[in-house]
Amino acid sequence: MAKVLKCKDVGIDCAFEAQGKTIDEVLKQAAAHARKEHGAKRVTQDYLKSWKKLIRTV
Ligand SMILES: [Zn+2]
Repeated sequence: MAKVLKCKDVGIDCAFEAQGKTIDEVLKQAAAHARKEHGAKRVTQDYLKSWKKLIRTV
């Protein structure tokens, strides 16, 4: 069982998937990816909150 968050689920046309064993792990990866690939200067708590809802267990 893994937790997955896809860029596509957030509404971004990007093939990236953040994967991890825990929600925190996934959010950490997603935040790093958003900063690096999508030029997000700051990943706010609001972002994290909305991403959290989109995380799926596969
Ligand atoms: Zn992406």
